[in-house]
Amino acid sequence: SAKTESTSPAAKALSLSQLFEAERTKVLYLFMHPFIEYSPVSAQLLNAVRDNWAFLYAQRLALAQKSQLHVCFCLVTKFMDATIRHFRFMLGGLREVEEECRSLKIPFHVLLGEAKSSLIEFVEEHQLGTVVTDFSPLHVPMSWVENVKSSLPDEVDLIRVDAHNVVPAWVTSNGMEPAAFKIRAKLEPKLDEFLTQFPPAIKHPFNIGPFPKDVEWEKLEAALEVDRSIDSVEWAKPGTRSGLKTLENFIEKHLSIYGEKRNEPNVCCQSNLSPWFHFELHSSLAKNLFCSDAFFAFDMSVGVSPFHLGQIAPQRAILQVKKYENIYPKSYASFINEALVWRELAENFCFYNKNYDNFSGAPGWAQESLLKHSVDKRQYLYTLEEFEAAKTHDDLWNAAQIQMVVEGKMHGFLRMYWAKKIQEWTPSPEDAVRIALYLNDRYNLDGRDPNGFGGEHFSAISILELLSRTFRLLFAGVMWAICGVHDRPFGERPVTGSVRCMTYFASQRKFDVDAFVKRYGAK
Ligand code: FAD
Repeated sequence: SAKTESTSPAAKALSLSQLFEAERTKVLYLFMHPFIEYSPVSAQLLNAVRDNWAFLYAQRLALAQKSQLHVCFCLVTKFMDATIRHFRFMLGGLREVEEECRSLKIPFHVLLGEAKSSLIEFVEEHQLGTVVTDFSPLHVPMSWVENVKSSLPDEVDLIRVDAHNVVPAWVTSNGMEPAAFKIRAKLEPKLDEFLTQFPPAIKHPFNIGPFPKDVEWEKLEAALEVDRSIDSVEWAKPGTRSGLKTLENFIEKHLSIYGEKRNEPNVCCQSNLSPWFHFELHSSLAKNLFCSDAFFAFDMSVGVSPFHLGQIAPQRAILQVKKYENIYPKSYASFINEALVWRELAENFCFYNKNYDNFSGAPGWAQESLLKHSVDKRQYLYTLEEFEAAKTHDDLWNAAQIQMVVEGKMHGFLRMYWAKKIQEWTPSPEDAVRIALYLNDRYNLDGRDPNGFGGEHFSAISILELLSRTFRLLFAGVMWAICGVHDRPFGERPVTGSVRCMTYFASQRKFDVDAFVKRYGAK
């Protein structure tokens, strides 16, 4: 299937992708498969592994070859600036994956250390023939995959499946898309093919014991070398079950007003799904044919599920929300804008722009303008410590910072204001990008995601709006806010140059700033 990207001709020669393709579009196929013991439980409840195209692909491959299938996750004890808040969320999701794998009779393994060593040893020890992994456009996961690719024995195939974009990044476009309306035009014709239901995962008939011992999660958590001062948050429990509850709650209580009110920080009608979306990859492995690997999660994984293991696929959320298309057309269109167009634009940006995380990734006009204005006198200048402690003169900025630190998620509208102000209050745009990404990734549960870097779409059009030709504003990550990525030049001003600026005054006209500030006790 186009969702997969084989790294070896041998794997392509298997021609199993057609089988998978048939199953994707025809879910019932599995029920008719002669070797399969169909389990209604696995079909209906096991979303952590089920909603993962990498896992599904690996299982189909294993079934076709009558092979064993293993799911592995390579856990590194430290990952960039991720804190215990992120690791607990990830490990909590993995616990559910372990449970689901057990009920599917699939061995689940957590391998300590980077995949280039732990996974390779695992493959050799179990004599695995194929590794299937997920895709992420970011530098570190890409390098994980590259390292595995160069370390795997020649006879082992490595297959990468884009399990978290609806349309695989390499199918959507073969280059960087400059704006949301451009990528929308490429995504829309492909939705019939890719925005399909997920086929069920099934009990795996070819695995023979002994199965691995239960994972010792407490021990693993104790081994982490991370900052433990940033604790978990109450409202976001890890795992697919909790993520699905959040989705249900969103649809029931907030979807009706999402289209109108999603940019109002006091209303809180965003889906809040970004933490589960972020930790949503999977991987798996199968003997003599399959290994699916989840290079997703943190340092790699082998086996099924990995980057994000065991959380929620955006495709699942979109399919659920789609059921309300005719009831709440405006909200549906708005959700598609966010979860499909904006999200996949951000993925495209990171995939095709190697400087997605620094000032060199900005468009030429923005680089020129920001550099010209980097000598302008700033009215305020703050250090990283002052920003982190929410000690600026601006109570709205401080309140947004406190929301992120305490709740692990800043409201989407405020992220734009927050990042733009960092640019105004630091000596250079390079400093601003560095500080914004550091804080964003340290405190937001959804940090270190392509959406955090990604571009913005300042004037994209929703599917419905496309028909009516009504334009609206859309927004994205740090590179949009600070560096004008996916935006256009505005009238030149001191400090911000031609990059769109946001003001306290304009925010007051949009929502009750005082109420928000009061809620977070900010001064
Ligand atoms: P909803 O409004 O319910 O949207 C549903 C989903 O659509 C989101 O979960 C997300 O996957 C996608 N989405 C929404 N807005 C955007 C957007 N502007 N660009 C791309 N995809 C979007 N998002 C992250 O996931 N991680 C980050 O680290 C991150 N950092 C950001 C930093 C800045 C400075 C800015 C301006 C935006 C950032 N975003 C980030 C994008 C966006 O703010 C969040 O995705 C959104 O607020 C998450 O909340 P939600 O799931 O309730 O959103």
